[in-house]
Amino acid sequence: MSMDTDHFRTMLVEERERVERAIANLRDDHPGFADDEVEEVPGPSDNHIAETATATLDREIDFTLEENSGQVLADIDAALKRIDDGTYGTCTVCGKQIAEERLEAYPWAALCIDDARQAEHR
Ligand SMILES: [Zn+2]
Repeated sequence: MSMDTDHFRTMLVEERERVERAIANLRDDHPGFADDEVEEVPGPSDNHIAETATATLDREIDFTLEENSGQVLADIDAALKRIDDGTYGTCTVCGKQIAEERLEAYPWAALCIDDARQAEHR
């Protein structure tokens, strides 16, 4: 085996912790946040416009995370299982090697770039 799966296992474990922390923070910071229109922005306040933009962006990321976090955790767990099985890094559809740059960006990727693109258009 040429792939350094330990490297990706470490990335996956760290990413899993990061996602779980983010979910926990999200629930702590915004109990019922969907109904909450006003938000205090922490940090220095020398540029209100930029801060508002950043807060809005963070909020959008939070929503995305909330919606996708369960899926990401499932994907991460599946990837960790594939490391144990020795099938990590191969596309679960066509069986080809997934590009290492892709795994560096998305260590939980189960599909090669071609099949991922096809799945998106389904
Ligand atoms: Zn494929």
